[in-house]
Amino acid sequence: MSITWGRESAARLGMSRREFLGFCTAMAASMGLSAVAGEAMAEAILAPRRPAVIWLALQECTGCTESMLRAEHPTLEKLILEIISLDYNEALMAGAGHQAEAARRASMAANHGKYVLVLEGAIPEKDGGIYCKIGGQTAKAMVLEAAAGAAAVIAIGSCASWGGMPSTPPNPTGCVGAPSIIKDKPVVTIPGCPPNPYNFLSTVVHFLTFGKLPELDHLGRPKFAYSRLIHENCERRAHFDNGRFAMEFGDAGHRAGYCLYRLGCKGPETYANCPSILFGDVGSGSWPVGTGHPCIGCTEQHVGFEKPIHALAALAGQTPPATYPRIVEEQGQGATLASAGVLVAVAAAAAGGGGMVMHNIGKREAESERDTRREEGK
Ligand code: SF4
Repeated sequence: MSITWGRESAARLGMSRREFLGFCTAMAASMGLSAVAGEAMAEAILAPRRPAVIWLALQECTGCTESMLRAEHPTLEKLILEIISLDYNEALMAGAGHQAEAARRASMAANHGKYVLVLEGAIPEKDGGIYCKIGGQTAKAMVLEAAAGAAAVIAIGSCASWGGMPSTPPNPTGCVGAPSIIKDKPVVTIPGCPPNPYNFLSTVVHFLTFGKLPELDHLGRPKFAYSRLIHENCERRAHFDNGRFAMEFGDAGHRAGYCLYRLGCKGPETYANCPSILFGDVGSGSWPVGTGHPCIGCTEQHVGFEKPIHALAALAGQTPPATYPRIVEEQGQGATLASAGVLVAVAAAAAGGGGMVMHNIGKREAESERDTRREEGK
């Protein structure tokens, strides 16, 4: 790649030229783009212009901002803050009160039609929206005013995407996500609790490089990040396919790293790239399932925060592998016509593709409980 790289670039971005180019190439690849796109992204990041960003914090916990800025690896948050001009963010700016609001309005006026609006948190609508007011203005009014002059709107986190945790029944503030408020322009949603900062960075860099948003799905989520089920790329998938499940937290199966489906893992009905890009940029295992906790489905409306953790995930659309081991072979016996007939009958009786898997879950469940009892000396 032929980019202009000097000492000031290394100081500004906190990495070497080699690391920077590797990062841009990997970012392009994770978005399904070519190495040429990676070079264009590198040039866009190095360009001196930085888009103004207005970041509104609404009915939220500041977890999304924290997630952006507390990445373990110093590169990510440095890149985010270096490629944008964060003109307004209550949690980070030194100013407060009238001073902060004046800075926001000045930036919006100076960059009308060009700034990026980032929304964090849900937007209450009940009782005229009085349950979240900033500077005397309701969150809803503030969002509509800021969205009118924005070149792009990004709803970061599950709360801004559809209402998230505050919107769970009975939803006392009547809160909703940004797409329910902003109707005249597309809203990119990056759900997650917290969302992955890498997905935010990739979306901003795509906009910076190509002047347009990445391809979105029907919920406004970037397809590069939300087109695959967590279950598809999970490191425990082999255990699921072979019927090895943790039955209780701390049992033998859990300690052995078995599949967490029986503990309520929502990976089979949750779209996100968590197992591929991980969190904190610290290497393998740094995501919920990797640390032994079932996925709670935080990127999916009506799954995360609504479906109890003990409830099993829907397995619709799961396809059993073609090379599924035959039960008779596991028991060290030769296959018989009768046993083959039983397998065919089970497969035929299954309503969907997940039938064989469910059959195996039941069989292995008993084995796993027996293993646990043996391990615990019961
Ligand atoms: S059910 Fe959960 S833990 Fe098991 S393979 Fe799927 S995503 Fe991974």
